[in-house]
Amino acid sequence: MCRHLGWLGKPRSLAALMLEPPHGLLVQSYAPRRQQHGLLNADGWGAGFYDIAGSDEPRRWRSAVPLWGDTSFASVAPALSSHCVVAAVRSATVGMPIEASATAPFTDGTWLLSHNGVVDTSVLPTCAGAESVCDSAILAASIFSRGVESLGELIVEVGAADPRARLNILAANGSRLLATTWGDTLSMLHGSDGVVLASEPYDDDPRWIDIPDRHLVDAHGGEVSVTALGGSR
Ligand code: GLN
Repeated sequence: MCRHLGWLGKPRSLAALMLEPPHGLLVQSYAPRRQQHGLLNADGWGAGFYDIAGSDEPRRWRSAVPLWGDTSFASVAPALSSHCVVAAVRSATVGMPIEASATAPFTDGTWLLSHNGVVDTSVLPTCAGAESVCDSAILAASIFSRGVESLGELIVEVGAADPRARLNILAANGSRLLATTWGDTLSMLHGSDGVVLASEPYDDDPRWIDIPDRHLVDAHGGEVSVTALGGSR
């Protein structure tokens, strides 16, 4: 399983979110603390963010090399700041291509989306526009085509159709951050300057809380709601 992270709040640099925390995505790429599937996340990384200037279109930087090997990113990341970020490090599922286009975050031109998990794509509604043949890219295209606002409903449907699926999603559009838990961990740190959602805590701040499995987190306008998703286990 990959590890992902979302931020919505006051502008923060990609370095502060991904590289500097003692157990941030950089360390999670080789030594995750809570990963249940896979030992490390060396099959690429990606970061997407929205311009502070106010464009609706996200910027993305994705790569198929391990985050720890990307020295150019380490140099530039302190200078890239945003109020809304989705980033991930990848552990490719067996059989999936290792290429930048298979690496989260995916986009439809407005939303950024990361999938932590695995899904049998034969249960997904047919839709065009997937960035890669990777299961996560096809799932992202399905979510975009249905509408990210209906994320919870689609996850319940897909989870029922593929009981072995793990469907932890993280999505953002610049003013809203959404996440699901379905088969893997997610933690939240809601501070005075914003909210972080992450597959696992990036430090030992006691304010981190764990989101229960099969829940939807919806953050916008300074408010965060956590609601149970339907579907029994
Ligand atoms: N199935 C996705 C991939 O192959 C995500 C894998 C994961 O969460 N580790 O990239």
